[in-house]
Amino acid sequence: MSAPLTPPAAREAPTLRDSRPGRDWEALAAALRRLLSPRAVVRTGEPMARRTTLRVGGPADLYAEPADEADLLALVRFCADHALPWRVLGRGSNLLVRDGGVRGVVICLAQSDFVTVRVQGAEIHAGAGARVKAVAAAALQHGLAGLEFLEGIPGSVGGALRMNAGAFGGSTFAVLERVRVMDPQGAVRERPAAELPVSYRNCPLLATHLALSAVFRGRPDAPAAIRARLAEFSRRRWQTQPREPSAGCIFKNPAALPAGRLVEELGLKGTRVGGARISEVHGNFIVNDGTATARDILELIHRVRAEARARRGIELEPEVEIVGED
Ligand SMILES: Cc1cc2nc3c(=O)[nH]c(=O)nc-3n(C[C@H](O)[C@H](O)[C@H](O)COP(=O)(O)OP(=O)(O)OC[C@H]3O[C@@H](n4cnc5c(N)ncnc54)[C@H](O)[C@@H]3O)c2cc1C
Repeated sequence: MSAPLTPPAAREAPTLRDSRPGRDWEALAAALRRLLSPRAVVRTGEPMARRTTLRVGGPADLYAEPADEADLLALVRFCADHALPWRVLGRGSNLLVRDGGVRGVVICLAQSDFVTVRVQGAEIHAGAGARVKAVAAAALQHGLAGLEFLEGIPGSVGGALRMNAGAFGGSTFAVLERVRVMDPQGAVRERPAAELPVSYRNCPLLATHLALSAVFRGRPDAPAAIRARLAEFSRRRWQTQPREPSAGCIFKNPAALPAGRLVEELGLKGTRVGGARISEVHGNFIVNDGTATARDILELIHRVRAEARARRGIELEPEVEIVGED
């Protein structure tokens, strides 16, 4: 059952004269800076290429890092008051942002209040902005097993929840006890994991709600055994995964066979468009040689899907989330 919690006190949002379409982003940013606490970050035109692991993507109209939950609530209400669309950014490791960038507000929970990880008994409490790698490290430090699969996933807790990220037979929701979420109106609730429907790489609730923090459960085990599993997962990952910038697996695995094997069987490994290339190491990774644009990557995705459809009758679905404008 969900437990309604008292939302943090919102700061009063000022009314802006230009709260109509055709936005004055500088004026909106200035108003937001006045509204949020001094530790908050508010910028206009923030390049998303700097904040995604694929290293492509144009600017966000407005980029904001709230300092705490009161800031976040004020920010969400500000967006509602001014009809500004918003989206959450984690560590950008499952995102392909188009070259024209993102219209509206990009919210990132990167400030210290959102990145804490602490262990209480067999429970690991983590902020949504914490790296999942830090969750795996805390579990090891306290002799808690079951979260080793998180170690090599380069995302945040929020991103792992949204994607139900998984590897080596483990998945985020399988080790999750409960999660605190904020709805689009700013109400905060704690939800038991068992109450939330999830599927392969998808927690639909988080398409509309913000994850604030999560509680994971580990199982006591000898640190040496946990360390050995971490080392084995890391070895397997680096044997099968390219080191160049990427967004991990580009396509979801279809029922018939893994997407990487399909790409290999189609003879597409090494195919290049501009600065983007299908990795020779793993057919389901597209890598950026440092000069790729989002358009290059989208063209490669299009070619692979067309070949899979034409030659094998398989409809490949992107696992990477494609956002923004051309
Ligand atoms: C080299 C590499 C290896 C990878 N290996 C794996 C793997 O083994 N297994 C796997 O599952 N994935 C893997 N990935 C993909 C990616 O790391 C995961 O999907 C990860 O969970 C994304 O987290 P993120 O913080 O980067 O999210 P982002 O890419 O920033 O965002 C992804 C989605 O999560 C949403 N989101 C982020 N934070 C929140 C929040 N607080 N509340 C609500 N929604 C939020 C975003 O809005 C977006 O819809 C890999 C990626 C790379 C680059």
